[in-house]
Amino acid sequence: MSARSFAGTADCACGPGKVWLVGAGPGDPELLTLKAVRVLGIADVVLVDDLVNRAILVHVREGARVIEVGKRGGCKSTPQAFIERLMIAEAKAGNTVVRLKGGDPFIFGRGGEEAEALHAAGIRCEIVNGITSGLAAASSAAVPLTHRERARGVAFVTAHAAGEDEPDWAALVKTRMTIVIYMGVSRVGALGKALIAAGLAESTPVLVVENASLPRERQLRTRVDRLAEDIAAREIASPAIMVIGEVARENGESTRDASGDLRSGESGTDDGRRSANGVRDGRAQSKNANVLVSMLSRGGASAGVSGSSNAL
Ligand code: SAH
Repeated sequence: MSARSFAGTADCACGPGKVWLVGAGPGDPELLTLKAVRVLGIADVVLVDDLVNRAILVHVREGARVIEVGKRGGCKSTPQAFIERLMIAEAKAGNTVVRLKGGDPFIFGRGGEEAEALHAAGIRCEIVNGITSGLAAASSAAVPLTHRERARGVAFVTAHAAGEDEPDWAALVKTRMTIVIYMGVSRVGALGKALIAAGLAESTPVLVVENASLPRERQLRTRVDRLAEDIAAREIASPAIMVIGEVARENGESTRDASGDLRSGESGTDDGRRSANGVRDGRAQSKNANVLVSMLSRGGASAGVSGSSNAL
């Protein structure tokens, strides 16, 4: 099946319901797209995934149902098949459904599987991009994922799959592209070893960003041979992104200061915790979010979150 076949909506002879697979971005509410905000405002039902910043739900219209389908919502990770059935049932009932997923729905978010299931059920489906956490993590540390002199390309890779699903690290290393790793912290020991065995220089710089774009974000700069040790020492945990390659070499700059503005100077990352200056201020962030909300309300969008339901 081509990606095009489930992205189109115009020629579908199905019911009035529709599902939007919407990227919620990495966490910072200001990194949400205007389209995501609009679609949240027209949804009858919103299915919220883990890793979605709940502050974003302020854009859901009053009266809409919000259904938590992740571990944090109390469900012990709602099974994928249940989520797909729920989306299909709601759309068949004529509802506009938003499936809100962290980052971008089509980057390691099982969005592809969901779009296929919807297509197979004859449900109209549209994708709204979000900023994937790999991009946000790099930008937050002022690391350009491509650079004319240091990396001619970038590969997004998951290190979650074990055994034979393991990426072909040697082939990847050979490309000299930046490698951005998702879901890798829990198996970082094996990962570091695999990369070195695949020919990556031990001194290759690595940037690790935990909770990218959120006030509790932490960054760590290290090298591939010290990666596992440093991650353990700093107790860096999921969700975290690793950016591996020459682009991650420390240049002494971080993008934002406590007020959310651009700044230059020390990164505050050597000890794995951002310095007092480097920590993003949650108050500044919520102030920005409020400004955004009031701008949107002026434009006619309503805000408010209603109760949730887990019933199918
Ligand atoms: N669709 C998501 C990825 C889902 S897979 C996206 O586009 O970002 C889940 C993995 O994404 C996590 O294990 C982690 O590696 C990464 N991730 C998600 N949000 C993150 C964040 N705010 N900071 C760092 N990593 C994050």
